[in-house]
Amino acid sequence: MSLRARTLLGPGPSNPYPEATVALGQPLLGHLDPVFLAILDETSDRLRHVFGTANRRTLPLSATGSAGMEAAFVNTVGPGDVVVVAVNGLFGERMVEVASRCGAQVVRVDHEWGQPVDAERVLAAHPAPKVIAAVHAETSTGVRSDLEPLGAGKGDALLLADCVTSLGGIPVQLDDWGVDLAYSGSQKCLGVAPGLAPFTISDRAWGRRIGKPQSWYLDLGLLGGYAGEATGSGRTYHHTAPTGMVVSLHAGLGRILDEGLDAVHARHEEAGRLLHAGLQELGLELFAAEGYRLPELTTVKVPDGVHSAAVRKELLERFDIEIGGGVGAHATTVWRIGLMGANATPDKVALVLAALEDVLG
Ligand code: PLP
Repeated sequence: MSLRARTLLGPGPSNPYPEATVALGQPLLGHLDPVFLAILDETSDRLRHVFGTANRRTLPLSATGSAGMEAAFVNTVGPGDVVVVAVNGLFGERMVEVASRCGAQVVRVDHEWGQPVDAERVLAAHPAPKVIAAVHAETSTGVRSDLEPLGAGKGDALLLADCVTSLGGIPVQLDDWGVDLAYSGSQKCLGVAPGLAPFTISDRAWGRRIGKPQSWYLDLGLLGGYAGEATGSGRTYHHTAPTGMVVSLHAGLGRILDEGLDAVHARHEEAGRLLHAGLQELGLELFAAEGYRLPELTTVKVPDGVHSAAVRKELLERFDIEIGGGVGAHATTVWRIGLMGANATPDKVALVLAALEDVLG
């Protein structure tokens, strides 16, 4: 079977860094092989670097970003615990759902989609929550929210952040910002295929986790025996880690750190700036609030009279370019264009602008 190569300029997955793809062709290692465990440890080190944290317990979970979200909630939230969730898009909504399933008393703070999180309102929503949760980069709307004011004002609460679309694309400084739990996904700006959820938890949050989480698979206490608590010896089997994917993530992170984290962020910033300007030159209007637009995920309004799905279909069939539709109430009125990881380059910007201009006629 031979698949056509697509240019993945949607909300993820993105085309991986070549280094991550090459790594998938390496010989498969066992999940307790010392060579693999050394790669796993180095992967955790590299994740600490991109997350901006010294957290001991930092590891790639063997599942997608949503499992990172589940792990963060099920390990810290039990029946009756108060959780304040900032909702400004689909993934804030998902947090509400996940926290509710843990039995939490959820206090949701709704925002207009396309706007960033208002830290003052979120902090004022409850006097003593156990957890405050927010999405750093809302993929459904293309909006960045500042986590630092939430960390500064969190008081005794734990701050839980979704960094699925931010990590590897825009600066993330968890320790400086006071974030206690965070997760990401391998398939976006980290430039690796889908399948892993980088995850980190502070000592403070670790000390307050609940005794026996409802999920066996995502119980960090059990997982710690294999990875998080690891010192290189005496590791025990918990589940069969997807070793090939970890080796690929290791390579993707290596590529990012070789290029330099600041340079990688600057590359995303520049690509996003070019795309935003180019779309506006085509007469299109951006959706996300100015000043909070993500460079790695741009939302643009579908012009009146244009059929959103037909344009996406034509881009895919004629140019092998994938872009995303909108979400929820904006499903047919917004497109989402990703410039993540390896695709955050001026040539991809020129490609998608030219193809869009052609299709829109
Ligand atoms: N959070 C955000 C901000 C996302 O963009 C996504 C995926 O698009 C997720 C969570 C869920 O990740 P996954 O689809 O890898 O389970």
